Amino acid sequence: MDEKLFIKRLVVGSLSANCWIVGVESSGEGLVLDPGGNGEEISRAIDESGLDIKLIILTHGHSDHIAALYDIQGKTGAEVAIHNSDADFLEGLGSYSSQFGISYKTPHPPDRLLHEGDCLTIEGLSLKVIHTPGHTPGSISLYTPGKVFTGDTIFRRGIGTTMMPGSSRSQLLNSIHTKLMHLPDETVIYAGHGRETTIGAERRDNPYVNGKRDNSYW
Ligand SMILES: [Zn+2]
Ligand SMILES: [Zn+2]
Repeated sequence: MDEKLFIKRLVVGSLSANCWIVGVESSGEGLVLDPGGNGEEISRAIDESGLDIKLIILTHGHSDHIAALYDIQGKTGAEVAIHNSDADFLEGLGSYSSQFGISYKTPHPPDRLLHEGDCLTIEGLSLKVIHTPGHTPGSISLYTPGKVFTGDTIFRRGIGTTMMPGSSRSQLLNSIHTKLMHLPDETVIYAGHGRETTIGAERRDNPYVNGKRDNSYW
């Protein structure tokens, strides 16, 4: 697929998560990845983009990636997709949920539960779901040739924390080595926090990936 893409990064919430607005210029369709806070700012950016938002994708269920989901669901009416194993993060008991000190309106239940190999499609763009568990059981990466959105699995020179309930360090490293590191070097990584990087740069310079840092004590 050789469509021209619009990719905008918004840094949202108290934990500075990346919310990505992705659109296809030729079709005018778009998606929002990880509406983690600052709902009004995301809404404004959607309006400015002129995109017709068809999908909201969550790389995982942590509050810093979903805190503005309720607002963006309400604004766009778009379908919400999350991996099956992280869906229970979206089940709130009251009208407000709280996690990591972030309190947010409990979103409506997801429309689509994802599994490894699924494809998420808007007109002109298809993203393949790569299940990359470890940071959370249902963490996913989303791949289209040349680009991968990794959530909190891998960052520029870092990896996601596994200090949380449900996290697994060995699973996280396994996801990185057996899945992400099989992607071509030139693939740009759009991570859940921080700036873009590439698979090749992380293969070479990420101490958690290239074996320079001893991971055994985690
Ligand atoms: Zn997270
Ligand atoms: Zn995060």
